[in-house]
Formats: sequence, C-alpha cells, structure tokens
Amino acid sequence: MTTHRIYYDDAFEREFDARVVHCDLLPPDLNSGITSQALGLILDRTAFYPSSGGQPHDLGKIGDANVLDVRDEGDDIIHVVDRRPETPDVLACINWTRRFDHMQQHTGQHLLSAMFQERFGRPTVSFHLGADVSSIDLRGPEPTDEVLEGAERSANQVIFEDRPVTVRYGTAEDLAKLGVRKEVERKGILRAIEIERVDLQPCGGTHVRSTGQIGTLLVRRCTKMRQDWRVEFVCGVRAERAARQDFLRIRAAAEKLSCAPEEVVVSAERTLSERDSNFKNAKAALQLLADAEAGLAIPATPASTNGLRIISRVLVGIPAEFLALFATALAKFEKTIALLARAEDGNIIFAQHASSGMDMNALLRLTLEKVGGKGGGPRDFARGRLEDAGKAEAALAVAREALGV
Ligand SMILES: [Zn+2]
Repeated sequence: MTTHRIYYDDAFEREFDARVVHCDLLPPDLNSGITSQALGLILDRTAFYPSSGGQPHDLGKIGDANVLDVRDEGDDIIHVVDRRPETPDVLACINWTRRFDHMQQHTGQHLLSAMFQERFGRPTVSFHLGADVSSIDLRGPEPTDEVLEGAERSANQVIFEDRPVTVRYGTAEDLAKLGVRKEVERKGILRAIEIERVDLQPCGGTHVRSTGQIGTLLVRRCTKMRQDWRVEFVCGVRAERAARQDFLRIRAAAEKLSCAPEEVVVSAERTLSERDSNFKNAKAALQLLADAEAGLAIPATPASTNGLRIISRVLVGIPAEFLALFATALAKFEKTIALLARAEDGNIIFAQHASSGMDMNALLRLTLEKVGGKGGGPRDFARGRLEDAGKAEAALAVAREALGV
C-alpha cells in the first residue's frame, strides 16, 4: 500500500489523523544516531516529510510516540519512532518551527538558483540544507562579489513582490514545454514547483505559499568545492538571526577598537599596522640591548685558566627572544663561551665563538642528562629546555665544571 503524502498538495498541514498500517522493530542504526530501541511505522497518510532532495526530514509526534527520523522507501514512508502508538488510529503533529524553517530555506534555494541561472548563467549542481546554513554548488568560474550581490538583490526583489509559489503536475514533456530546464529521467506524472514568472523546477519538497514568506535572503560565504563554487545562504528566521549576530559582533569589535561600528575595518587595519611596526621596533631594541649587554660583559669577564672567557648567567625578567640574541652577541667575541638560561621557563642556550674549540651540543647534552631536559644543536650553538626551570643555576654549574672552570 502506498503512503498518501499530504505534503505534496498541502505543505501547511501540520496536524493530521492517520491509521497505522504497519509497525516493525528496527535494528539499531548507528549512522542515523539511533542506538536505543526504535520502531518503523507506516501510516496510510502522512504530512511528515522524509529526508530527500537536500531537505532534512521532519520531527514531531505520532500519538504518544516521538518521531526520530523519516525515510522515503519507494512507495512507503517509514517513520522511525521510539515507541508503539497506543491505538492504531492516531493523531499526529509535526514540529512546525523546524518544518517552516526548512520551507523558507528550500524555497529560497529555488529562487536563488534561478537568479544565478537567469542573470549570470550559473547552473546549480547541488543543494544542501544544513542545521545552520544552506548552500548551493554553482558550476563555472568563481562568482565575483558583484555576481553574489546581484543574485542576492534580485532574489530579494522577488521576495518583496510576494509572488505565488504553486505546485504543478505533468509529464516530463509537459514540463519541458512550460520551460523546465532540468533534464528529468523519471517517467509518468511529475511534480514541479513554480515561482510565478521566475522559475519552474521538478521537486518533491515542501515550499512556502508565496515568496514573501521566505522573509529575506542573505548570501554568505563563497568557497571553492572541488570543481564548483559553494555559495552559503540563509533565509527567513535564519537571516534575521544572522544579521543580528553580525551586528553584535561588529559592535563588540568596535568597542574593543574604541571606534564606531562603521570604522571597524579601517581601525583594525590601523591597529594591525601599529602592531607590526611595534614588533619591528621591539625586535630592533632587543638587538641593540643584546649588543650593549655583550659589550659590557666581555671586558668585565676575564679569561679563565684554560684561556677561554666563560659568561654564565641565569637571566630573570627578560623577553624570551633576548636569550638567543644575547648568546649570539657574546659568541661574536673570540675565545668566548656563553652559558645562558632563562629563569621563568628553563630555556637554555650554550653558544661559542668557533675559536673556543669546544662542542656546545655535546656540552648541552651532558648537562641535560644530569639535570633533566631536552635539546641539542650544532657545535657552536645548542639550545634546549630544562624539565625544571628551578634547576637553571645547577645546570650552568654542571656545564662550567665540565669545561673545567
Ligand atoms: Zn523544492
């Protein structure tokens, strides 16, 4: 027996009487997230829309049973429910908020696809109605901002004109005569949706009664998706929510930047350019400081008995980048070895002028073996990190001892 699909002729029927004609226990289906006991219910007639054509299924109640999924299986529509209804004659109702939202997005898709096709010659190759945003994939070159905005604007123009959206039936030949562009392979009588003087498409989905009920349509991101371009959009309630959230985000960003919302972009650009220039200045200042500190440390440190000048310091309260700059500055002097650590994080660097003739990598590895930590590097410049930053002094003592001073 074929389930009579109420939504084909009346997508606004949200409560209906029906008779249960079949009820089966279903195996768990991990793919659809149904892990507990579920039943497959077939009714003689239904207003529940099954997942198909890019539009997700409805939710709601059949008697006292909750509808978890709705599947289109040939002539039947299977309602996946969590319990058996108490009586074979049931009153069912669909979650209208969810359904109406789907109808707004779906009808919006017909309209948007028609605008891309009519105005810019870009065919739609697929449609997806997501939980937050919907999308269509367009074939052809990358749509420019002008194309995206042009399609959005003309779609909204049709929405403002509140044109009727109606269902038509006919064979593929009939529909082709009426101007259906899409090739249809199915035989027999087909269902098509017409937006007056805009579009006629074969479709088995649910739609609003007139374009005004779409509310408004906003085109969002456009990204490359394999060979096509994925255009995200939102309609109706979702568009209202998206516009409000955009405003709140811009206002919050403006507050952070201490500017008016209209000036957010200019202000962000200015702030980023200031940040870049501060970063360069700070780096240059650190370099100067490292050179100056090295200039002071060298004459203040006499060579030890083995003829090497060893500068061993645990540095406190310096930026992390300073450690390497200072080590490099010290190692520019002949017969000099720098043993440096940073108190805050246990970063450690051993560096030498090549004339010192030691092996900093071997020295660091030996030190870390005794004190704990990881690191290594070339012969003249090895760096690492102590497991325990509190052992920085101890680590430098180990290294000095190994060098025989
Ligand atoms: Zn449709």
